[in-house]
This record gives sequence, C-alpha cells and structure tokens, in this order.
Amino acid sequence: MFDNLSDKLDSALHVLKGHGQITEVNVAETLKEVRRALVDADVNYKIAKEFTNTVKEKALGQNVLTALKPGQLMVKLVKDELTELMGGEAAGVNLSGNPSVILMSGLQGSGKTTFSGKLANYLKNKKTKKPLLVACDVYRPAAINQLHVVGEQIGVEVFSDEGNQDPVAISKAAIAHAKENGHNVVIIDTAGRLAVDEAMMTEISNIHTAIEPHETLFVVDSMTGQDAVNTAKAFNDRLNFDGVILTKLDGDTRGGAAISIKSVVNKPIKFIGTGEKMDAIDVFYPSRMADRILG
Ligand code: GDP
Repeated sequence: MFDNLSDKLDSALHVLKGHGQITEVNVAETLKEVRRALVDADVNYKIAKEFTNTVKEKALGQNVLTALKPGQLMVKLVKDELTELMGGEAAGVNLSGNPSVILMSGLQGSGKTTFSGKLANYLKNKKTKKPLLVACDVYRPAAINQLHVVGEQIGVEVFSDEGNQDPVAISKAAIAHAKENGHNVVIIDTAGRLAVDEAMMTEISNIHTAIEPHETLFVVDSMTGQDAVNTAKAFNDRLNFDGVILTKLDGDTRGGAAISIKSVVNKPIKFIGTGEKMDAIDVFYPSRMADRILG
C-alpha cells in the first residue's frame, strides 16, 4: 500500500538525518521533496503546499524545544500532520436507530455492492446486529443477483423486488420488512453509473430525502486518484453524506485519495476495503495509516 509514496517520503526525510540541527535551508529543501512526493501520489497541489507550510512552521518553532534529532523531529511532524489531514480520530458509523438505516452511494464499479456485503458481515459478527441487505439497483438485474450471491455467502438476508423500478418504494418496503422481522440494521445498496450524472444524483437524493437514513456512506475507488476527490465533492454537495469508504487499497494505489479526501469534503473516511473477499474490511485509523505511509 502506497509503496511509492513511502519510498519518496523516506528519501525526502533522509536528507535531514545527517544534519545536526534544523535550519530554514534544510527544512525548505526537505519539505520541497515531501511536497513533490505528495503531489506525485495524487494529492492536490494546494493541499500539499498547505501541508508543507504547516510542517515548516512547526519545525522552525519547535526546533529548540525538543530533544529529538532533526530527522526524527521531521518524521514526527510529518506523521502528526498526515494523521490530522486524514481526520485525526477514527470515526464510527451511527447505529442508533432500530433499525439503523445505512444508505450506500457511489459510482458503478466503486465497490458499493462488495462493501455492503462486507459491512453486513462485519456487523453480523458483532453478534448484537442482524443486518438486512437491500438491492436497489433497478437498472441492472446482474447487480441484484450479485447482492444475493454476497448475502448467501455471509448468511445475511437480501431484500429485493425485481421488476419494481422505484428505489424509494423498494427501500420503504425493505425498512418495513426489517421492522417485522427483527433486523436492526438495513444496508441499502443503490445504483451507480460510470460517471457523475444528473439522473443518478436525482435518484439517490430522492431516496435520501424519502427514507432519512441514519448514515449515508459514499464509496469510492482509491485507484481513481484525484477523480476520487472530485467525485466525493459532487456526491457530498448533493447528499451531505456522513462518511467515506475507500476501496481497493490493496491495489497499486498511490494514496492521494486517502490523504486528501477529508480536507476537501470535511467528512471522515470510516472504513477501507482491502480485497475482494468479505473479510477484507478495516476501520480507518488515520494515525495507523500515517504510520504505514511513513514506514
Ligand atoms: P459496485 O458497482 O459499486 O457495486 O462495485 P462492486 O462491488 O461490484 O465492485 C466492483 C469490482 O471491484 C468487483 O470486481 C469487486 O470484486 C472489486 N472490489 C470491490 N472492493 C474491492 C477491494 O477493496 N479490493 C479489490 N481488490 N477489489 C475490490
């Protein structure tokens, strides 16, 4: 994960290791390389610049107050700032309802259906939760079928109504079904398209308004780099979602989406997807991710 970024940051920070103290010159040189590494990893230039400016101020301010060597100090400052940029604390999912309704949004292929299954499985394993998965992609019968396959695999019931073209009606019927059958979590998988378009946005906004979910999650493929951030912004403008799910972090992704999405939409990354299997789900901990990035 993020091997390229980790290597580049390591060599950028290595420069300071030979120095006895932090100076304006060696900090500027180091942070120029850090900034380049971030931009190469698909972090937006403005975010990368703000990032290095903040680290610079802290480095020059703290230099005399710390027992750390310049190299160690800089690694610590970069790590702390990366953690902050990615959201600080880990953020949970709102499960306060009975049932708690979770609406999944995102483009087609982002990993929504897979993640819906993973989340259902994750919650089911918590023992106190009995999830219901809901197939609301009314355009692609294959997508409905895919959710049934996932449900069978993890032993979670799937609600669908093939032929019904109204996702709002399906969602409402599913919530009623959940109440009758003791499901305390309802996870609604919706239709995505290949790119952001008005019809998809109207449909998901209508579902959102009609069912008032406790939690709206936006699923995005981390391999799509800066596009991931732009798509997040488009969905957030319409849905004001609660959190981001970053999928495919097991692939050869550069890391930009993980680092910059929080600062663009001001919503936390809540979970990450790290594979195609149902157990390839992790809670997103900003500090652990920063540790991984810096090696
Ligand atoms: P949807 O169209 O948004 O519902 O996307 P799908 O759930 O069908 O996922 C699209 C493809 O990405 C499928 O082949 C999934 O197996 C794959 N996929 C989903 N999440 C992950 C992940 O975290 N890692 C990897 N490697 N593949 C994933």
